[in-house]
Amino acid sequence: MAIKHRVVVVGGSFGGVNAAYQLRRKLNDQADIVVISAEADFTFIPSLPWVIMGWRRADKLRVPLARPLGRRHVNFVNDQATAIDPQAQTVTTASGTVFPYDHLVLATGADLDWSNVPGSDPAEGTVHTCFTIQQALAAREAVARFVASDGGRVVIGANPGASCSGPAYELAMMLDTLLRRQKRRHLFDIHFATPEPFLGHFGVNGIGNMSRMMEDEFRSRHLNWTTNAALASVEPNKAILADGTELPLDLAILIPAFYGAQVVRNVEGLGNPRGFIPTDRQLRSTRYPNIYAVGVSVAIAPPAPTAVPVAVPKTGHMSEQMATSAATNIAVEVTGKGELVDGLYLPVTCVADAGDVAMFIKADPFLPPRNSVVLKRGARYHYLKLGFERFYLEKVKRDLPAMHFGW
Ligand SMILES: Cc1cc2nc3c(=O)[nH]c(=O)nc-3n(C[C@H](O)[C@H](O)[C@H](O)COP(=O)(O)OP(=O)(O)OC[C@H]3O[C@@H](n4cnc5c(N)ncnc54)[C@H](O)[C@@H]3O)c2cc1C
Repeated sequence: MAIKHRVVVVGGSFGGVNAAYQLRRKLNDQADIVVISAEADFTFIPSLPWVIMGWRRADKLRVPLARPLGRRHVNFVNDQATAIDPQAQTVTTASGTVFPYDHLVLATGADLDWSNVPGSDPAEGTVHTCFTIQQALAAREAVARFVASDGGRVVIGANPGASCSGPAYELAMMLDTLLRRQKRRHLFDIHFATPEPFLGHFGVNGIGNMSRMMEDEFRSRHLNWTTNAALASVEPNKAILADGTELPLDLAILIPAFYGAQVVRNVEGLGNPRGFIPTDRQLRSTRYPNIYAVGVSVAIAPPAPTAVPVAVPKTGHMSEQMATSAATNIAVEVTGKGELVDGLYLPVTCVADAGDVAMFIKADPFLPPRNSVVLKRGARYHYLKLGFERFYLEKVKRDLPAMHFGW
């Protein structure tokens, strides 16, 4: 029996699941594919803001991965990868199992770094956040208490160095929608604090007229905002900016800066100083060319410096495209057929939802200067995003073809 090519994928989210499915399609039975994921389930993370508002049940957003991947003859291992040895070409897991690889795909996302804003770590009890179902459920309880109170002040935003500010915009607008529906909006102050130099910067130096669109949206919703906000610390009743400004609060929901996953940071020369993986345009590690990186784990430099650090977002749509490109390039290397593709040319679709209306954003490519930009606003995009979630969960269950209509 011919020895098969061994591909190990670490991470079972947008990057990892799509990489595994695409590898199976492109390599058919020429490869043994293993997915190692610390979590047994795929979670549709973009819907977590709806969970926080009490509009969506968390258990509806999960897909257990073992069966669908197994149907595609992908060996799913629910374990933590603890060590990568690029010389021996092995991944070791917490249970002590060693997985040899010919190609490794790292879709390990990021770890949350709260260290630059003392008091902001949710473990300290003041701040909430939204990266996991557990965090979203805790935030949901806090939001429900806040909304049921006699009135109060919430600070929603991002710490210096954050990249993933989109959900903070969504949460501020959704909370406004939630309160207006209950005719209690007049009792609450919503303050948005972001390190971005202007609203709608999104870590990509803006997208077309997005800045003006977002300002109009925030003004019409009576959302207050501070840009260039260098959050310096959080105390139980206030957030303090580096210039001494104090933002009083009864509730805080913040997005932290990221650093690369621990297992990446452990490998000499694999990650940059923050643990993100520098790659060539084919998504191969610049240090270890048989290691590919996709999604949030990839190092992408900001397009322009900002007064307060802002990092580049890597969205779900981008992560999925990178996964497809990495799988294509691995298949080219294995079979010797076809051409390598540019995995860093990334057009992006994104829907920023407010709970009643949403903003539809299409930017090609995601960093300026761009070939095209489409910005729309309306209730239909809210429903598009709802529909996309349903489609995506089915896609993960059944390996459906990619469609990018409502990220
Ligand atoms: C609240 C919120 C809303 C969002 N909304 C949108 C949106 O509307 N549209 C959009 O396009 N994007 C959105 N995003 C961004 C999107 O969720 C990310 O781009 C996407 O999750 C990135 O996928 P990934 O596979 O690169 O990494 P992740 O989703 O971070 O997954 C990494 C996975 O790797 C696993 N892992 C890490 N280290 C190890 C290890 N050592 N061993 C085993 N497993 C490991 C982790 O457990 C995790 O499951 C949103 C993000 C958030 C937080």
